[in-house]
Amino acid sequence: MRIDIITCLPRLLESPFSDSILKRAQQKGLVTVAIHDLRDYATNKHRTTDDYAFGGGAGMVMMIEPIDNCITKLKSERGYDEIIYMSPDGEMLTQSIANQLSLKKNLILLCGHYKGVDERVREHLITREISIGNYVLSGGELAAAVVADSVIRLLPGVLNDETSALSDSFQDGLVAPPVYTRPAEYKGWKVPEVLLSGHEAKINQWKYEKSLERTKNRRPGLLGSN
Ligand code: SAH
Repeated sequence: MRIDIITCLPRLLESPFSDSILKRAQQKGLVTVAIHDLRDYATNKHRTTDDYAFGGGAGMVMMIEPIDNCITKLKSERGYDEIIYMSPDGEMLTQSIANQLSLKKNLILLCGHYKGVDERVREHLITREISIGNYVLSGGELAAAVVADSVIRLLPGVLNDETSALSDSFQDGLVAPPVYTRPAEYKGWKVPEVLLSGHEAKINQWKYEKSLERTKNRRPGLLGSN
C-alpha cells in the first residue's frame, strides 16, 4: 500500500511515521508513506499556497493551483483509489472506514490549514472527505496521521501478532476487554483469577463477557448496530 500526504507543513508529519509500528511497517516494505510539501507545487516565487478569502472574512484560504499541480503529478505516476480531504465536516472516521481503506492500494490524504481549501478543490479534485471528530484542529496533518495509523496497523504483517488487530475494540462490534500484565498482585490489587487459570475456554468466555459489559456501559450504540 502507498499513502501520499499533501501538506503545507511537512515537518508536522515527520514524527508520527518515524517510530514503532508505523516505522517498522515502512521498513518491512508493507507501506510507503510519502509526504509532499505543497510549497514545491506553488507557482509564484514566494512559493505561497494560501491567499485572502474572496468576499472577505477572517483567515486565509488554501489556493487550488498548488493542490491541483501536486495531485495531477501524483496521478500521472499511478492510479489512486481515493483522494481524501481531511475536513471537520467530512464523514466521521470509524473502524469500518479504516478497514475499507486498508484494502486499497494507493491513497492521497490532503491536509487543509487556515480556513481550509478553496471549495473548488472539494468539488473537483477529491473523491472523499474524512473527519476525525466534531472538533476543529488547526490543520489536517494530525488528522491525516490518525487516518494513516488506523489503516496501516491493519495491513497484514504490520502487527507482530496477526490476530492482534482483530481483537481490538470495534472490530467485532464490541469494545476490547480489560487487559493485565505482571505482577499478578500489586498493592493488594489482583488480576482476575480466571486469567491466571490457563483454561482457554473459560478465559475466552470471560473476555467476551467483559467486552459485552463494557460495550453496554460505554458504547451502547454499538450493540444492535450490526
Ligand atoms: N474553517 C474550517 C476549519 C478549518 S481547520 C471549518 O470551520 O470547517 C483547518 C484544516 O484542519 C481543515 O482544512 C482540515 O484539513 C483540518 N481539520 C480540522 N479539524 C479537523 C477534523 N476534525 N478532522 C479532519 N480534519 C480536520
